[in-house]
Amino acid sequence: MSRIIGIDLGTTNSCAAVVEGLDQKVKLIPYKGGEYTIPSIYAVDDKGNELVGHEAKRQWQLNPKNTIYGSKRLMGKSYDPDTVRRIHDYFFYEVHEATGTDEVMVGIADKRLALPQVASKILQKIQGVASDYLQAPIDRAVVTVPAYFNDRQRQAVKEAGAIVGLNILRIINEPTAAALAFGVGRGMSTETIAIFDLGGGTFDMSIIEIRDRVFEVIATGGDIFLGGVDFDNRLIDWVLESFETHHPGVDLRSDPIAMQRIKDLAERSKIDLTQRKECAFNIPFITMTPDGLPLDIDLKLTREILEGRTADLVGRTIDTCRRVCADADIDPKSLDHVLLVGGMTRMPAVQAAVTGFFGQPPSKQVNPDEAVAIGAAMFAYSLEDDSNLRVQLLDVIPMAIGIANASGQLHEIFERNEAVPNLKRLTFTTSVNNQKDLQMRIYQGDDEHVASNNELLGEFTFSGIRLAEAGTVKVEVEFNLSQDGILSMSAHDKDTGAEMEKSVALGVRKYE
Ligand code: AMP
Repeated sequence: MSRIIGIDLGTTNSCAAVVEGLDQKVKLIPYKGGEYTIPSIYAVDDKGNELVGHEAKRQWQLNPKNTIYGSKRLMGKSYDPDTVRRIHDYFFYEVHEATGTDEVMVGIADKRLALPQVASKILQKIQGVASDYLQAPIDRAVVTVPAYFNDRQRQAVKEAGAIVGLNILRIINEPTAAALAFGVGRGMSTETIAIFDLGGGTFDMSIIEIRDRVFEVIATGGDIFLGGVDFDNRLIDWVLESFETHHPGVDLRSDPIAMQRIKDLAERSKIDLTQRKECAFNIPFITMTPDGLPLDIDLKLTREILEGRTADLVGRTIDTCRRVCADADIDPKSLDHVLLVGGMTRMPAVQAAVTGFFGQPPSKQVNPDEAVAIGAAMFAYSLEDDSNLRVQLLDVIPMAIGIANASGQLHEIFERNEAVPNLKRLTFTTSVNNQKDLQMRIYQGDDEHVASNNELLGEFTFSGIRLAEAGTVKVEVEFNLSQDGILSMSAHDKDTGAEMEKSVALGVRKYE
């Protein structure tokens, strides 16, 4: 019989879990070598072999151009030069704009792949490992995403599953999944908790009320460009600056292999500095002088330097916490528990900032690397017909969704933190004689004023409007937000009930 698993598809690492056995215990699914997480990395080696996870990471120093890492941040994003520049400063694979859509694609081994295709390789690996472990086919999963993912990013995840025959039954938000791991079985009392989730690529913060088996998200916020890789990048900048003071004019940025070696050690040193106050930062033979002499990196890194270089990143997480608490109308010091999720929350400066803001030390009751997959597996199990676990998730959308009006402003249909699922109706009246169709651009994002500063979800055309004088036909458009936070739309003539035909240009709406 096929099984449903829970998958935490992370920016840097992914992890899967399942509820198993007569005692219905949640178990993490182990990979070869007994580890419970695999790096979310896909590579193609010089012989054309595809590598996923640990195998891909093992060769990334030597093959940086054909190693796709951290690409979750690009999923469902429209191509924009600013994002691409941010990626290019530290990543060495190619980033392109797709032809015909505004999607981002990555270049690898002379091919171009859409981001869902890259994610599908990781999902496929997890599917294979889980299937071997459980001795059962895996064709259904609950997959978690950052709470701050918009509609397009969520659709891209569904698409990734579809590519490898994995039906993603539900997408749930990472903090909500972690709350499940914490809250199931805690009893009847009502508790309000904060989940502070700082992972490899993204940051989320949610305030969730737990009432027995009901998990209600009160407010959420985050940033999909704030995570461990940004901390690593700050260390990389420090290394490059320090190297340049010793070797003026030697530019390591243009050497992908040297940069990859620095990146690798930067991340390892950052992790080391969680336990220690200082560490050596040595890389022999990083490059050659023009006259063929080898140069080394030989530096001393301290926790103080790391903290100094990343204080603003930590500060941004706290700014978001402040905003989410204000949205929830909750005093941060009044919360019952604060949970830390994501590997970056092990950094002492992050823990100190969280403790200071919430006025209490974070709870140690969940494992920051595993809680999301465990919660996803619990929720997956609750969807099985014969399950005796019933939980209710009441989630919200992280950013407003709206229509661009004639002056380019955003007319909000759903406000941020509005509950999902949700349905809204808007009535439009024809503005010219014999108007045949109605066009609208839908955006999602934080800019309440200028629509185009937000992510374009799609340009929709509803056609087949009854021919009549201006102002006489009323078209009612339904905006339907699914439990996954994905929007679908339909429109009909309000008087005759006739359904309009819908077509979509721009945006990525394969799951309409
Ligand atoms: P996740 O997405 O939850 O797997 O988080 C991965 C991020 O956490 C990566 O950026 C890691 O470098 C970082 N990380 C893991 N362990 C530690 C640690 N002990 N101290 C600081 N950062 C860590």
